[in-house]
Amino acid sequence: MSTAAVVTGGAGFIGSHLCEELLARGAEVYCLDNLVTGVTENLDGFIDAARFHFLEVDISEKLPDGLPAPDVIFNLACPASPKDFGPLALEILDVCSRGTRNMLELARAHGAVFVQASTSEVYGEPEVHPQTEEYWGHVNSIGERSCYDEGKRYAEALVMAYRRLHDVDARLGRIFNTYGPRMRPDDGRVVPNFMQQALVGEPLTIYGDGMQTRSFCYVGDTVAGLLALADAGADRVDEANPAYNIGNGEEITILEFARRVNEACGSSSELQMVPLPHADDPTRRCPDTAKLRGLSGWRAQVSLEEGLARTAEWFAARIGDEGSDRAAGSEQAASR
Ligand code: UDP
Repeated sequence: MSTAAVVTGGAGFIGSHLCEELLARGAEVYCLDNLVTGVTENLDGFIDAARFHFLEVDISEKLPDGLPAPDVIFNLACPASPKDFGPLALEILDVCSRGTRNMLELARAHGAVFVQASTSEVYGEPEVHPQTEEYWGHVNSIGERSCYDEGKRYAEALVMAYRRLHDVDARLGRIFNTYGPRMRPDDGRVVPNFMQQALVGEPLTIYGDGMQTRSFCYVGDTVAGLLALADAGADRVDEANPAYNIGNGEEITILEFARRVNEACGSSSELQMVPLPHADDPTRRCPDTAKLRGLSGWRAQVSLEEGLARTAEWFAARIGDEGSDRAAGSEQAASR
């Protein structure tokens, strides 16, 4: 019997890779997305597969009747770019609260395993390095990022309530910065920005002094981490704290990261310092991933060099397609 999996946010960046991997494993996949930041273009490679079902649904509203009985639910729906934290603040708070609760109810009704996509943002501006799952975080509840940070913290609290009150087999995957093909080109995050700037020879915009750090995990590794978390036997999951970091432990300054993107793109774009556009930009972030390794043996496998090469190839192809679309458009205009 094949597994029935629900992926909310399945048309997004990480969600679409997760759907693809679940299909490759033989699962029946139900992708729920309201397309606020996801795009069906991300599903192009498999939307016609017999075991794939796309449902345009806002999980913050009442769920439609007739959803299948899932064995596992991956709750990824939520805008995740700092650029979204202003205009989509209310949607983010809704999906983290009402949306997550709706999906937890579905898990409860069918006895499904529930994997909540949580985030390194629950640690806020961390005072502990690297961040372990035991660290409670240091979060500004009224800052520009609070809709996301506190929304995800609230979602974690909901997960714990459903575990304690209703025995739902729910787990928390705290995802750190993830990159790869299908990132939204205009979402303002550092990877799409730097990639596109490097590929067209524009300056790379370093926010602040570039000494802030991040630890970048290739999307294939993040997806493997989510699946490892879902696959673990319930008796092995840490009952008191079912949170597991998913990320790559290689910490790098944004300045050095810009150099590595230039290398991956064969570019010599200048590095340009600009003022930080968003408040509360965390100064350091790096996961301790020993806990998930202990649970499942999972570890990030793709080096930054390899991951950036694959990502650069994808962005280069996109830019090429846009260029040929523009050229075709102007040829058509000229022939009219
Ligand atoms: N950043 C940057 N230039 C850009 C976009 C982002 O220097 O064009 C920095 C940003 O200030 C942050 C880091 O890169 O310190 C990662 O930002 P991103 O928005 O990708 O994700 P975050 O980890 O902040 O959620």
